Amino acid sequence: MIDTIGYDDIGRMIRSAADKIRANRDKLTKLDSATGDGDHGTTIARAMGIAEKVIEESEKTELKGLLKDVGWGVMGVDGGATGPLLGSFLMGLDNGIDEQGTIDCPTLAAMFEAGLASVRRQSKAQVGDKTMMDALLPAVDAIRKAADEGRSIIEAIQKAAEAAENGAISTKDYKARYGRAKNLGERAIGHQDPGATSMALIIRGFAEGLS
Ligand code: ADP
Ligand code: MG
Repeated sequence: MIDTIGYDDIGRMIRSAADKIRANRDKLTKLDSATGDGDHGTTIARAMGIAEKVIEESEKTELKGLLKDVGWGVMGVDGGATGPLLGSFLMGLDNGIDEQGTIDCPTLAAMFEAGLASVRRQSKAQVGDKTMMDALLPAVDAIRKAADEGRSIIEAIQKAAEAAENGAISTKDYKARYGRAKNLGERAIGHQDPGATSMALIIRGFAEGLS
């Protein structure tokens, strides 16, 4: 079976993720109002809007480099932690793509690992620290596992979305070790982290964009 994705699919995945974020903007802002400053819905929606716009307006015909441009655009979003974190993740995804620009399941796993490595330059947060890493780390593990098991791309990305959603829900149980929610101490327990929630929505959006 030939199971690869390319330029157009990446565009579909980004657009679908942006739609997903827009549909949940108010929910994300509400979550950030509980543990932060209430701007996350707006900031992440703006970031994904820029991601879409970069894809739309890009004159690149090759996939390699496209996500670098997308990430660079998102990095420039002002308004706190989100722009740099999401921007470097998206930029990093590009590092996993080779010059041929065709993505199979092992390449997708390499992309997510490279995206994570890129975010890692900015954040040392681990699972249990109540950040977007609580969604991203299990998602990367799920894609790698799916690739190693020889699963299809769509299966891999669906597994990743599931893992990210479970990770986001688990943040309710944690105190925060990073970000604004850290100031709340024990009072953050019971609230789901907005950044983990938006990361899970983005990965679910990727999956829906492919199916
Ligand atoms: P800000 O906190 O600057 O207002 P946002 O509200 O857009 O930025 O994003 C908040 C989210 O950013 C948090 O819910 C958390 O998931 C994530 N975050 C904050 N600091 C870190 C960090 N050091 N590492 C990973 N994620 C972080
Ligand atoms: Mg905020």
